[in-house]
Amino acid sequence: IIPVLTIDGPSGVGKGTIARIMAQKKNWHLLDSGAIYRAFALTIDTREINIADEKALRKIAETLDVKFKTKSGNKLVSIYLDGKDVSKILRTEKIGKMASKIASIEVVRAMLLKRQKDFSETPGLVADGRDMGTTVFPDALFKVYLTASVDERVNRRLKQLQAQGSEGIILNILSDVVDRDKRDYTRKYSPLKPAKDALIIDSTKLSIDEVIIQVIALVEA
Ligand code: C5P
Repeated sequence: IIPVLTIDGPSGVGKGTIARIMAQKKNWHLLDSGAIYRAFALTIDTREINIADEKALRKIAETLDVKFKTKSGNKLVSIYLDGKDVSKILRTEKIGKMASKIASIEVVRAMLLKRQKDFSETPGLVADGRDMGTTVFPDALFKVYLTASVDERVNRRLKQLQAQGSEGIILNILSDVVDRDKRDYTRKYSPLKPAKDALIIDSTKLSIDEVIIQVIALVEA
């Protein structure tokens, strides 16, 4: 069986950073499932598709071509949609918000399930998101659920956006994070919650290295 490490948790908790570092350390594939929802949102936005048009949504889900590349020394993962680097636009709050709304539609989640499972390939996979350990990879060998206080997560999101040079659009970060959390925790289909067999790590007061030490201990136990 292919080893899978799932990392779930709310917005801005640092899942992406931990997932990227672990994928590099283990030389495993990486699935940033949030980016799949974001790429889906971007496609809908650019093609001006009505989200009630199930047939159009299905077509996008079937043809969505998303790939991830991690480069050593590079802090961010590059995301390619149809061979084009769309990392920057995907990480904007506008697309994040759209992705969060789309992610609450049951058919969308069902359509994207297989595409996400297909990322599980030898020698292994690190998958980060909201329902990796509960729905997409329920049999994963290693499961982590990351949490942190809302204040700390807002801070981390701010720093991330500033590093990208997107100061102009960070005004509503707190309400955006709170809104997105609420939608993720309360949606009917695959709500955000820890898998029963997940290691829960509260990272509010931990550095990245301190979290990594715990995750490595889990994967190499
Ligand atoms: O993690 P990220 O902020 O990129 O995810 C964007 C949105 O996609 C989240 O707010 C969440 O609503 C949704 N999502 C999801 N399930 C996942 C990953 C992301 O519902 N596995």
